[in-house]
Amino acid sequence: MRSLRWPVAVALGLALALEALPAVLRWLRGERRRRPRREVLFFPSQVTCTEALLQAPDAPLAAAGPSALTPAAPGGCQCSLPHGESSLSSLLRALLTARASLELCLFAFSSPQLGRAVQLLHQRGVRVRVITDCDYMALNGSQIGLLRKAGIQVRHDQDLGYMHHKFAIVDKKVLITGSLNWTTQAIQNNRENVLIMEDEEYVKVFLEEFERIWEEFNPTKYTFFPQEKKIH
Ligand code: ZN
Repeated sequence: MRSLRWPVAVALGLALALEALPAVLRWLRGERRRRPRREVLFFPSQVTCTEALLQAPDAPLAAAGPSALTPAAPGGCQCSLPHGESSLSSLLRALLTARASLELCLFAFSSPQLGRAVQLLHQRGVRVRVITDCDYMALNGSQIGLLRKAGIQVRHDQDLGYMHHKFAIVDKKVLITGSLNWTTQAIQNNRENVLIMEDEEYVKVFLEEFERIWEEFNPTKYTFFPQEKKIH
C-alpha cells in the first residue's frame, strides 16, 4: 500500500498542475495585456502652453505609451504660460496618437491648437475626414477653411437642423466624445466633459454613424440652388 502512495501523489500533483496551467497562462497573458484606454477630461481647461506637443516631430511617439501622462517637456519654450498637463493637452495627445485615420464629426471647430494638431496628422499621412455644420463653419475663426486649404476632406450638412455631434475616432480604435465644441471659448470657459475610450463596440457604432452621415453629405448630393427648384 505504502509503495503506491508516491505514484498516486505524483499523478495527483501533475493533474493539479495541468489543471491550473491554463489559468496560470491566462494570468500571465492578462499581466501583459495593455489596459484599454479610458479617460475622462473635464473642461474648462487650464490654459497651458501646447507648443512642445504641436511642434516636436516626435510628439506622437512620446504620446504612445504611458509616459504620455508625464508633463510635456517645455522644449526650450520661453513663453509665460504654464508647461504642464491640462485637459486640452490631454485631448491633443489623444488625437496625436493617430497613425492611420482620424474621423471628426464636429459642430464647431475654431480652436487653433486643435486645428494645428489635425493639420499635423494630415501632414504625417493620416487620413483625416471632417464632417461639420454648414452654419458654424462659415463663422469667423472657423478652422474648416484652413483644413480644406490644407487638402483635408470636409463635408457638411445642408439642413436647418444642426450637425451637432462632437466626436472623433482615432485609428478606428479610440472614440473621443462629449459635450465639448472644439472652440477656445468652450475649452477655456465652459464646463464640459470629454470621454476618451478604447472600446470596440462603441467605436463600431460611431464609425457606422460617421460613414452614414459622410455618404449623406456627399457633395454630389448637394443642392446648390434649392430655391430654383421651387420655381415651377
Ligand atoms: Zn511655452
